[in-house]
Amino acid sequence: MASEGSDDQVPAAAARASLASANRIVIKIGTATIMKKGEAGGTARPGSAGGVDVEYLHHMASEVAALTRSGKQVIIVTSGAIGMGARELGIPKKVRELRMRQACAAIGQIALMDEYRRAFGVFGLLPAQLLVTRDAWDNRSAYLNLRASVETLLEAGAVPVFNENDVVSTAEIGNAFGDNDQLSAYVASKADAELLVILSDIDALYDADPRSNPGARPIPYVSELSPAIIAAAGGAGSEFSTGGMATKLKAVEIAGDAGCKVVIADGRLPGVVSRILAGEPIGTLFDAPLGLRNRQRWIKNSSPLGSLIIDGGALEAIRAKNSLLPRGIKAVEGSFERGDIVLLKLEGSGEAVAKIVSTLSSSELARVAGLRSDEVGEALGSGAAKVVARPEETVFLGE
Ligand code: GLU
Repeated sequence: MASEGSDDQVPAAAARASLASANRIVIKIGTATIMKKGEAGGTARPGSAGGVDVEYLHHMASEVAALTRSGKQVIIVTSGAIGMGARELGIPKKVRELRMRQACAAIGQIALMDEYRRAFGVFGLLPAQLLVTRDAWDNRSAYLNLRASVETLLEAGAVPVFNENDVVSTAEIGNAFGDNDQLSAYVASKADAELLVILSDIDALYDADPRSNPGARPIPYVSELSPAIIAAAGGAGSEFSTGGMATKLKAVEIAGDAGCKVVIADGRLPGVVSRILAGEPIGTLFDAPLGLRNRQRWIKNSSPLGSLIIDGGALEAIRAKNSLLPRGIKAVEGSFERGDIVLLKLEGSGEAVAKIVSTLSSSELARVAGLRSDEVGEALGSGAAKVVARPEETVFLGE
């Protein structure tokens, strides 16, 4: 965590400056940002003023046009379908019932895209609609198709505009993202975006709940999403300000795993995305300083083929960014080859603490578990690795 005068000022400034070089940017526009004030839940009657804030969308389109002119690729994740549908149906209050929300989404998505088409068309931009559910990420062939479509759209100069396919996605059947914060992080992660900008009516992460603490201060820079930061946000399960910080921090975690930086900012600030790219200290910047992002992500997301039971000393050593050595291994479970992903479990509690790429196979490890490094060569021959996993190939779980 960083605040003014802290040691993090130098990395904070460097991270802000690095945003200018982001080539692929995902912009997430929340309901409260895109709808006219008071319209997010569909408070107006059909035909009355309200719905999408056309002027705002026009400004956003002009920003996106400027970004694409300067060679950047922009992907949008938008909310607003349910709010627009409620408005079209003349529902005067927030829609809570699931089947009604789905009906509203079906009606409102067309109206929403209509506004995008109009606003973006003014600047010669072609928005493309992508409605997705979680399955598109869990199912490899669906995921590859989606990824190819996004690449093709970007190559063709179009602007992919994502929303959740609310009509078919429900938490009950487990295929829902649930909110567009997390959807935007998945999009940013899989599209290898360097920056995700979450625009909402929450202007930053605060060091305390700003609703109950008038002295709460915004945190301009977060180097790493630590448990302390989550606690500062009021705990992972809480919500404050006018939206949910918990879902935004979850999004930060998902994007961060992919090496994608995230900025949470007030969506209504004029020129907000360009100003963020210019290095202005707007909102909260969550850094993602992972060097080996694809490999680390692959390690974290892969199913392990076996487990190594390690002792407390080995855990301490690898947490201090040392290699895992045969000496700290107490037992080997499962059958795996050199280069496979293996889970590390702590002796005694059995708690899964990390995943590694194992340099040795399960049968080799069974022979050298507990041995000193100089004994490993004798047991396996001089060609075998003396370390089981290097720090850059060790990914801790639950962090
Ligand atoms: N998919 C929803 C909609 O378009 C929004 C979900 C969210 O805002 O998180 O209305």
